[in-house]
Amino acid sequence: MVEEYDVVVIGTGVAGSAIASKCSENGMSVAIIDSRGYGGECPQRGCVPKKVLVSGAKMIDWPVRMAGKGSPVNGKFTIKWNELIEFKRTFTEPVPENIEKWLSSLGIDTYKGHARFLDAYTLDVDRARFLEPYALDVDRAKVKGKYIVVATGAKPVKLGIEGEEHMVTSEQFLELDKLPDEIVFVGGGFISFEFAHVAARAGAKVTILQRTNRVLKGFDPGMVDILVKATKGAGIDVITEKEPVSIERSDKSYLVTSKDGDTFKCGLVVNGAGRMPATDNLGTDLAGISTEKGRIIVNEYMQSISCDHIYAAGDVTGDFKQLTPTATHQAPIVATNIIQGNVEVVDYTGIPSAVFTIPTLASVGIDETHVDKNKHKVVFNDKSTWHSTRYTNHTYSASKIIIDESTGLIAGAHLLGPGAEEVINLFAMAIRLKIPAEKLKTFPYLYPTVSTDIRSML
Ligand SMILES: Cc1cc2nc3c(=O)[nH]c(=O)nc-3n(C[C@H](O)[C@H](O)[C@H](O)COP(=O)(O)OP(=O)(O)OC[C@H]3O[C@@H](n4cnc5c(N)ncnc54)[C@H](O)[C@@H]3O)c2cc1C
Repeated sequence: MVEEYDVVVIGTGVAGSAIASKCSENGMSVAIIDSRGYGGECPQRGCVPKKVLVSGAKMIDWPVRMAGKGSPVNGKFTIKWNELIEFKRTFTEPVPENIEKWLSSLGIDTYKGHARFLDAYTLDVDRARFLEPYALDVDRAKVKGKYIVVATGAKPVKLGIEGEEHMVTSEQFLELDKLPDEIVFVGGGFISFEFAHVAARAGAKVTILQRTNRVLKGFDPGMVDILVKATKGAGIDVITEKEPVSIERSDKSYLVTSKDGDTFKCGLVVNGAGRMPATDNLGTDLAGISTEKGRIIVNEYMQSISCDHIYAAGDVTGDFKQLTPTATHQAPIVATNIIQGNVEVVDYTGIPSAVFTIPTLASVGIDETHVDKNKHKVVFNDKSTWHSTRYTNHTYSASKIIIDESTGLIAGAHLLGPGAEEVINLFAMAIRLKIPAEKLKTFPYLYPTVSTDIRSML
């Protein structure tokens, strides 16, 4: 038997859940499907658990940084890793049940299993492929939707190197009960940097290997250079132009070999080489959905360019940056366009991003590589001696603000240092709401706070 709905959503992450709930609240019959515990990556295996570990790392870093300035700590001081992981589980473990209950309470039919298109309107749900220990008495279900939303997220890229199976993913890293003494991160993206900073504060010797000559692609290169200095200052080895080609396992350790023959011995190798859209085994070809390197190609309405009744949102679109605020922005637009016809378009202006290292690098808008010298003014400040930096005895702190001189509007903001991840939201708001730099400068900010610095940053 085929169950029929107005809308079928694949994926219960930030994107899928928001679309399903809005469609249901607007009177549509909705089914939602997930092959894993409900809630998706961000609250279970991404942003939230990561931030718990980052908080643990900050707890260690702060008193060490303040040694000799009133701190009771003088010397080595590390995280109780297993306790931190247990604490993290208090955030993640309730998620699947809570999200599923919430969706059910809205009258949405919840399916657990791997979804695959049989044709453009019908999905097969393989309930045996639900990766949680639920008792299942039915193996398969078939659901049909007038509209179908693909919100299947992303997964770690495959590197295609010998011994790849020895690497752990970010998800497995977040579940480690014990942290090895030596860790190699393959890839110099934001996940590697964040986890490397955590692991270093937890006492591990950490190395990041990056294939190309630049780490943290997508962030302002000049600001990244300062973060790399801070990272090295935290004892983390950042090695660029070092491409791993194999990973061998011996008794209790791993040996990573690079293309130029260097070797790195460690107790854990983490795949931090990026994430790709999760569309394999989804049957997109059977539905006639156009994809490019796995991502669902959508127009400005978030509608598949090849199937009018299919929409996509979140990481699976590869649109803009694969981040929660991107998915959060796209989701209500998808729901509105399904409910009312295509009336809303996406606008990624002013969506911020961050690398939650210690110190944090936060960013919004254009970076220096996109500066037009005839149009933009770049205001850089080394903030290392500013009070807001010295209060917490940080060494590295800087800001780079890019202003469009023809309009007086802020085109980009890049902050490194204490408070960066909060203050960036003010710049993001100014960019999105078109608040001129001069106006932002006149605001009577709470003093003394890092936000007060905005006046001098501009
Ligand atoms: C370690 C890590 C840290 C991160 N930190 C941050 C951060 O600090 N800030 C930030 O903004 N973003 C962060 N992100 C990114 C953020 O988590 C994602 O951008 C966001 O979760 C995407 O949401 P989504 O709804 O698109 O997909 P997801 O949350 O991935 O949800 C997709 C769901 O679809 C399901 N699914 C997939 N295929 C199928 C199928 N065939 N059938 C049924 N179900 C299927 C999956 O099981 C999953 O539950 C981080 C990601 C990681 C991995």
